[in-house]
This record gives sequence, C-alpha cells and structure tokens, in this order.
Amino acid sequence: MTDLPAPGRSTRSVHLTEHVDPATGSIIAPVHTNSAFAYADVPSWRAAALGETPGHIYARNSNPTTDRFEAKMAALEGTAAATSFGTGMAAISTTLMALLGPGRRAVTVTDTYGGTHLMFSQILPRWGVDCVVVDTDDHEALEAAIAEGCDLLYLETPTNPTLKVLDIARLSAAARAVGAVTVVDNTFATPINTRPVEYGADIVLHSASKFLGGHGDVLGGVVCGSEELVHRVYALREIIGTGMDPHVAAMFLRSLKTLGLRVERHNATAQAVAEHLAAHPAVERVAYPGLPDHPGHDIAASQMEGFGGVLSFSLVGGMPAVEKVCAELEYAYLAANLGQVETIAGPPATTSHVELTDAERAEAGIPEGLIRYSVGIEDTADLIADLDRALSAL
Ligand SMILES: *Cc1c(COP(=O)(O)O)cnc(C)c1O
Repeated sequence: MTDLPAPGRSTRSVHLTEHVDPATGSIIAPVHTNSAFAYADVPSWRAAALGETPGHIYARNSNPTTDRFEAKMAALEGTAAATSFGTGMAAISTTLMALLGPGRRAVTVTDTYGGTHLMFSQILPRWGVDCVVVDTDDHEALEAAIAEGCDLLYLETPTNPTLKVLDIARLSAAARAVGAVTVVDNTFATPINTRPVEYGADIVLHSASKFLGGHGDVLGGVVCGSEELVHRVYALREIIGTGMDPHVAAMFLRSLKTLGLRVERHNATAQAVAEHLAAHPAVERVAYPGLPDHPGHDIAASQMEGFGGVLSFSLVGGMPAVEKVCAELEYAYLAANLGQVETIAGPPATTSHVELTDAERAEAGIPEGLIRYSVGIEDTADLIADLDRALSAL
C-alpha cells in the first residue's frame, strides 16, 4: 500500500488528533466536568500527582477535554506541546509573566493588540522588566534593539488594525543570535495561513476567541511551543489559575473542525473586498496584505498561505464618513470582535484599542478615521453590494 499524501487544511482541521473514545465509542470529545479525579489508593494518586504516571488530579491543573484541545492546537501549529487559557489576554499575560522578570529585557513593536500594548508599556515595567517598543515598520531598528540585548522578542503579524506584516524568519533569527525566545501572536493568520514555528518562532499564541472559535460565542487562549517552554508557562498557569474551562474546550474542538473551511472562505472574500474597495473613489487607502501594493505583501506572500480575513480602510471623508458608512452597513455588526462567521466592522478607537487613550492611540500609530472590517462567511457578492450601498450614502 502506498502512503497517503500529506493532508490538506480541511482534512487536518477535521482529523488531526481526533480519536474514538475507548470507553464509550464517542466520536466527539466527551466533556469531563470533574473538579477532581479519584484514585483507588494513595500510592497511585501520589504517582500521578508527582507526574510519574499519567493522570489528572484537579481541574485547575489539567482536564481530559482541555487536553484534547491543547493536543489539537499543538498539531495544527506543528509544536510539541500547548497549554490553554480562559482568554487570549490570559495566555499573553501568563506567558510574559512566566518568561520575564526583573532585569529582563523584552523587545516588541508599536502595533500590538491594545491589551498587549499595555502589558509592555505599563504593567511589565512595574515589575522591573525593561520593555523596548520599536516602530512596527522598521525591521532594521528591531534588529538593532534585539542586538543590544534581548530575552524575549514579541511579534504580532499581521497587526491589528493596520495589517502591517513582520518578517518572522528574519526577526526570530536576530533573536536566536542573542539567545532570546521569539513569541508570535498568530491570532490574525491562524495556523491555516501561517505556522510561525516553521519560520523560527519558539512560542505561538492565540486569542482563540477570534478565528479558532469562529462563532463569536466563546473566549479562550492557547500557547503552543516546545515541551520545555510550554511547561514553564503551564507551571505559572496552574498556580495563578488562568486556565480554560472544559465546556469551553469542547466548543473550541467543535469549531476547529471547520477552521480550514472557514479560513479559506475568509481569505477569498477579504481579497475580493480589498480589491474592490481599493478601486472605490470614496476610499482613501485599503490595508490588506494580499494587495500587491501593500508594503508587507512580499513578506506576507513568503510566510502566509492566505492573507487572512481582516482588512482595514480609511475614507476620504474622515471620521464623519466612517460613522455614516458604519451606520449604513446591513451585513456587518458594529462590535468589538473579529474572526467570526458574521462580518464585523468598526473603528479601532472602539474595538482593538479601546483600552488606550486618544494620545496613546496616536503614539501607537493607530489612525482614527479607519474602519476595521472582518469578513464573515456571507456570500462575497452580498458583502461587496452592501459596502457599495453604504459608500454611496456619502
Ligand atoms: C482579541 C485579541 C487578543 C486578546 O484576546 P482576548 O481573547 O480578547 O483576551 C490578543 N491578540 C489579538 C491579535 C487579538 O485580536
């Protein structure tokens, strides 16, 4: 018999790490709701507690349902291990707290997610971490900041909401040269479009609340990497209690089966919408890595299999035009989310960067008169007709 070819995106999403439950024959991962797990005697309990034999002790530490979500995410990202969290920010903050401390130096970019930006600008400095925040557009300045000494390099690509693209291979090589760990927030790309470890990243993390969940009905986070690094993050997670609930893990396991299908549709629709808007007279500028004139297009083409489901655009009429168009859109919810099957639109001041003041947003290079548009899985032609109709109101 010949071997099967390497499975494609949807086959991976459906089948990776899935198995029939030996106790019941269940095809779907059972939801284990135990707070604690029982043992027949003290020696077997002690052996499991010490990690000498496999077994669960208490649900803040581990649970069979969350284990299955973690195994699936590790397989999708191509890492040895993963650990899961109650939200994306829990994943990010726990990782940074686990890997950094007084006297450590972290290098990151201006255009990270709003909550992440505050970790680097305000929270970590309070704990004695030296945080260097470099202009996202400047790879040379990033390399220079890394070469001056760095314990952790933190990247997000494409960025939110300006869709800037960072070269993971180039920057992680600079980090490795000084012994730094590279962490990549892969929320926007998803493992369907980019697997950052293939380009040298050490840790890949997600706000699972976005594309991984995909239906706007559940929050979560996940951190993927080597056994050693994930264990360091997990060791803090089990103490501070930022882990994922098993009911939520079951919802993510269901969502992940359609990840390949959904992301392919998001990619195709976002590309069509971006091209359409780029040619529209009321639109000043469209930011989407799939457009050939996007400054990060070549890097994106080298590390992304698709350019993702989020784009942003600015209007000739500025903020008043943004408010008018948002109000007219029929097939887009005005909400602070992205990556779900429904189209979501809104200005960054009310979505990704709501935690920042006007001055902080300006300093972070987040333009006010911008609409972030996360395409859903509606028919592409309907979304384009809706945008045309809303823009004609100007
Ligand atoms: C939403 C988001 C986060 C935060 O995740 P939560 O699940 O909302 O805590 C982090 N990074 C990116 C890129 C995001 O879009």
